[in-house]
Amino acid sequence: MSSSPAVPATSASLADVVELLAGHRLTVLTGAGISTDSGIPDYRGPDSPPRSPMTFQQFVGDEAFRRHYWARNHVGWRHVHRTLPNAGHRALAALEGRGVVHGVITQNVDLLHEAAGSRHVIDLHGRYDRVVCLRCHRVVPRAVLADRLEALNPGFVERVGQVGDVEIAPDADAVIEQTAGFRVQACWQPDPEDHARECGGVLKPDIVYFGENVPRERVDRAYAMVDAGDALLVAGSSLTVHSGRRFVRHAALTGKPVVVVNRGATRGDRYATRTLDAGTSETLTALADLLAPLRP
Ligand SMILES: [Zn+2]
Repeated sequence: MSSSPAVPATSASLADVVELLAGHRLTVLTGAGISTDSGIPDYRGPDSPPRSPMTFQQFVGDEAFRRHYWARNHVGWRHVHRTLPNAGHRALAALEGRGVVHGVITQNVDLLHEAAGSRHVIDLHGRYDRVVCLRCHRVVPRAVLADRLEALNPGFVERVGQVGDVEIAPDADAVIEQTAGFRVQACWQPDPEDHARECGGVLKPDIVYFGENVPRERVDRAYAMVDAGDALLVAGSSLTVHSGRRFVRHAALTGKPVVVVNRGATRGDRYATRTLDAGTSETLTALADLLAPLRP
């Protein structure tokens, strides 16, 4: 294997990208930039306000922080729940239907690829519609927890304002101040060691936070998906975190063409064969029109 993975990136035109990708079966890696046209803000985009994301250590180690988190999430997740896929998501689903895309690895937790009809999706950083118990590891649908939280905190959502007015982050954090009195739900499943009792463990959204690792099995599946493709297309990610960037490096190291479509430079540009400074909705729509179907 070459010790120098980086192919010098050139700022490409759409025609260059089409020429490079034609005839290849694509693995696609997506990030927050593909969901901005669905109304979910990208806190790492070029025009984003500074924001310090919550860490896993804060969530696990601080009960007050956890209360604050759940209060905001109780409001914010509903906004994500009714968000619709955009032209970029739909284009990738169409390309999968024609055999051009064989799988999507997404760093988003919004499930918009699935909503658009993509079938082979790895939700690298988890999914907003599930909650996991840190003690017994049971997974609970977020909607079921929502009913519990609503019963524990009647009228909370109405008090903090209309859902549509709340600023939300990619992890369904709504920015709200009045969270002090919020009551958090512990895991109510039977205790694995004493079935007469409830588990009582800490519930956490089934989302990978800063300071937390992606489960190894999921990472391995994502590497396998990259290996199974002929080329890697990155769409709407600044590749800031290693968690996603490693797949770009891996594709380059294994000699696959890498195309990065993003507004602004990315931390993975050194691994790219071509970079295209453009939005995902229009670029992926164009690619869906221009890339010919592939036989399975
Ligand atoms: Zn539990």
